[in-house]
Amino acid sequence: MVKVTAVDRRRYSRFAVPAPPTPPSNRRLAAMLRRIRRRLDGARLPIVTLIAETERDPFKVLVSTILSARTKDEATAAATRRLFDAASTPEEIGALPATEIERLIFPVGFYRTKAKNLRLAMGVLLDRFGGEVPRTVEELVELPGVGRKTANLVVTEGFRRPGICVDTHVHRITNLWGYVDTRNPLETEMALRAKLPRTQWIDLNRTLVSFGQKLCVPVSPWCSRCPVEEWCPKLGIERSR
Ligand code: SF4
Repeated sequence: MVKVTAVDRRRYSRFAVPAPPTPPSNRRLAAMLRRIRRRLDGARLPIVTLIAETERDPFKVLVSTILSARTKDEATAAATRRLFDAASTPEEIGALPATEIERLIFPVGFYRTKAKNLRLAMGVLLDRFGGEVPRTVEELVELPGVGRKTANLVVTEGFRRPGICVDTHVHRITNLWGYVDTRNPLETEMALRAKLPRTQWIDLNRTLVSFGQKLCVPVSPWCSRCPVEEWCPKLGIERSR
């Protein structure tokens, strides 16, 4: 019989396919989120979170969330302020001509479409929900211009009720951690709803949005400054700093 030496074994092991990284357990994920929150303590909050914390008004959260899509936080903040200075109830906003809403919310992204949808949404709020912002994702998505991302953010930030708002950062980061393995935000939301303990739902978005804007940025993340680098498999990351 041929004797296999330690040297042979070492040579052979060089050809071994590395084991895929194990997805973080829920306990590990909770520890990662805790570390990230400690690191970000005092950092600027995402605009909708800031509005929710200062105004405590689900209607303002709804309107600012609609305005915030594809828009920088500074522009969202200024547009929300201008709009609410001019009109602050569903009746008042719904009564404004679309061109006036456009003028007030410019330069938010897609301001013409958002102005049209805002007027329509005010009509549905008044006719179907008595002027009150509904508290469930299923009802919120009935409003024109409100998709699942917006609806979940209104539920979590406006009402502090469990929901999972998956934006680009939540989708990207939970995938690069290997916690989920999904192709789009809807799949990510459903995977997180099935797997993530409910105690983590409400604050997941605000944590990962801040983290994704400041450290785990989409192009070349700051891994050298990251509080969870030792636990991160960096799936799909090709360049980092
Ligand atoms: S180690 Fe890098 S890729 Fe992983 S979470 Fe931190 S910043 Fe993102």
